Amino acid sequence: MKYIGAHVSASGGIENAIKNAQSIGATAFALFTKNQRQWLAPQLSDEQIATFKRAMAEAGYAASVVLPHDSYLINLGHPDSEGLNKSRESFFEEMHRCELLGLDRLNFHPGSHLKQISAEESLERIAESINMALERTSGVTAVIENTAGQGSNLGYRFEHLAYIIERVEDKSRVGVCLDTCHSFAAGYDLRTKEACDATFEAFEHIVGFKYLRGMHLNDAMRPLGSRVDRHSPLGEGEIGWECFRYIMQDSRFDNIPLILETPNEALWSEEIAKLKGFANI
Ligand SMILES: [Zn+2]
Ligand SMILES: [Zn+2]
Repeated sequence: MKYIGAHVSASGGIENAIKNAQSIGATAFALFTKNQRQWLAPQLSDEQIATFKRAMAEAGYAASVVLPHDSYLINLGHPDSEGLNKSRESFFEEMHRCELLGLDRLNFHPGSHLKQISAEESLERIAESINMALERTSGVTAVIENTAGQGSNLGYRFEHLAYIIERVEDKSRVGVCLDTCHSFAAGYDLRTKEACDATFEAFEHIVGFKYLRGMHLNDAMRPLGSRVDRHSPLGEGEIGWECFRYIMQDSRFDNIPLILETPNEALWSEEIAKLKGFANI
C-alpha cells in the first residue's frame, strides 16, 4: 500500500497537522513537532499529547505514516564541541518529543563538516550522535535524509549513509529517507525508467531498501548534479513525472510515508491525487 502526503503546517498546535493533512486527501504526512528555527521548545504537556493522540486515532493515521522532521539548526556532525553538544541535546529533545507523541521515526539531515574537519570525522560524529540519542529513547527510529550536497553538507552520497549506519549500534532504529530532488541534485539520475532502475539499484547495493523509512517526493529546479537544493512542483522541474510514476508502481516504496515538500501548497491536493492515480488507489 502507498501512503502519500505532504509536509503540512502544525502552527497553532501539533494536532492541526492532522487536520491539514486530511484536508488535502493525504494518507501520510510530515510535520515539525516544534518551531524548527528555535533550539528549544516548551515541554509538551500531557494535554497536548493526549489531544494529538486522540486526533491521530480519530483520523486513522498510524504512526508508521508520519515522518516528523527535526530543526534545521541541528548539526550532528558539528566540528566544534559547543555546537555539537547543543545539537545533540536538541536532537535528543526532538526524539523524545516523538516518543511522547507515539510517533516512531524522526527525519533529519545528517550534518555538515563546515570545512573544519574531514568528511569522515564528521560522519563519525553523526553516528555517535545517533547512538547517544538512541540510548536515551526507545521506540523511535533515527531516519537520515540524503542531501543535495550543498555547501559542506554530508549525506549526498549513498556511501555516506552507509558509513553512518555501519557505525550505529542498534541497526533496528536507524533508517533512511530518500529525497528525489536531493538525489538528483547530488548526481543520481531519475529522469527515465532506466535511470530510476540504476539509481535505486545503487541504493539497494550500497545502503539497502530494508533501511528505507520514508521518501520526500520533490521535483528539482536545477539540473542533474547541480548540488543545489531547490524543489519544484512535481512534473515542473528537471526530473519530470516518470520518476514519480515509477515510485508509485514499485512495491519497494510500499508502507512508508511518501511526502511532498513541493513549493506550491495550493497544488498538493492535485499532486497527491495524481500520485494516487499512478498507484491505482
Ligand atoms: Zn527533503
Ligand atoms: Zn530539500
